[in-house]
Amino acid sequence: MANAPETYEIYAIKYAQRNAFRAQHFIFSDAHDVPMPMDYFVWAIVGRKAAYVVDTGFDAEEARKRGREHIRTPAEGLRLIGIEAETAEHIIFSHMHYDHCGNLGMFPKAKIYLQEREMGYATGKYMREEVLRQAFSVDYVTDLVRALYDDRVEYVSGVREIAPGISVHHVGGHTDGLQVIRVWTKRGWVVVASDATHFYDNIFRTNPFPVVFNVGHMLEGYRTIHELAESQQHIIAGHDPLVLARFPAASKELQGTVARVDLAPLHWE
Ligand SMILES: [Zn+2]
Repeated sequence: MANAPETYEIYAIKYAQRNAFRAQHFIFSDAHDVPMPMDYFVWAIVGRKAAYVVDTGFDAEEARKRGREHIRTPAEGLRLIGIEAETAEHIIFSHMHYDHCGNLGMFPKAKIYLQEREMGYATGKYMREEVLRQAFSVDYVTDLVRALYDDRVEYVSGVREIAPGISVHHVGGHTDGLQVIRVWTKRGWVVVASDATHFYDNIFRTNPFPVVFNVGHMLEGYRTIHELAESQQHIIAGHDPLVLARFPAASKELQGTVARVDLAPLHWE
C-alpha cells in the first residue's frame, strides 16, 4: 500500500472510578436495576514520532467534591506507558466536561485540539442552566480560556486530520461540541468514542446516556461512529469497565489499569 499512514498504538488508561447503578446510565430505563460501576479514562495515541494525549481527566480535589474515587493522576497514568505530561506536545480534547479537561497545568507544552463549538457551548448561554453546567468545572473551563490566550488552542470545526492516520470528527449530542477520534491501527480504523457512548450498551442498544445536550445529535453520533469504525469491536466506549475487561492489558503489571485498544479484544461476548 503506497502512502498508507503509519499505524498507531492506542492506550486506555484508567485513573478513577465510581459506583453506580444501571438505571443511572440509560434514558430508557431497564426493568431490572443492578450495580453498574463507571471507569474514568484518558487515552494515548502513540506513533513512531509523536504521541497524542486524548483528554486529561480531573484532579483529586474535584474527585473529593463529586464523590469519585481518584486512583492516580492522569499524568501518573501516562507515565506508566512512558509519556511525560510536562513534555507532551499534543492534547486532543473530546469535550470539556470536568472529567475530561482538568489538570491542564501538568501539560504546559501541549498544543490543544478542540472543537470551536465546544468552547462556545461551555462559555455560552446554555451555561445559565444548572442542569447543563453541572458537568463542567469553571476552573477547568477558565484554564482552557487561558490556554487560548496563550496561543495553545488549535480550533477544529467539524472534521480535521490531525496527522496522517488520526482525525477528529464532531458529533455533539452529549455536549454541543463533542468530537470522536478515528485512528489507523494494525487492525484497521479504531474510533475512540469518549462520551459519544459512555457504555457499549448506550450505542449497541441505542439507549442514550441521560447526561445529554441534544438527544437527536447523540443518536446521529452513534451512526457516525458506526460509519467511522471498522466494526463494533473497533469502537472504544468512554466510561465502560468492559474496555479493560475485553482488551489486552499493556503489560501483566498493568492489568486492570491500562488496555491496548489498538489490538483486537481478547473476548467480546
Ligand atoms: Zn465523561
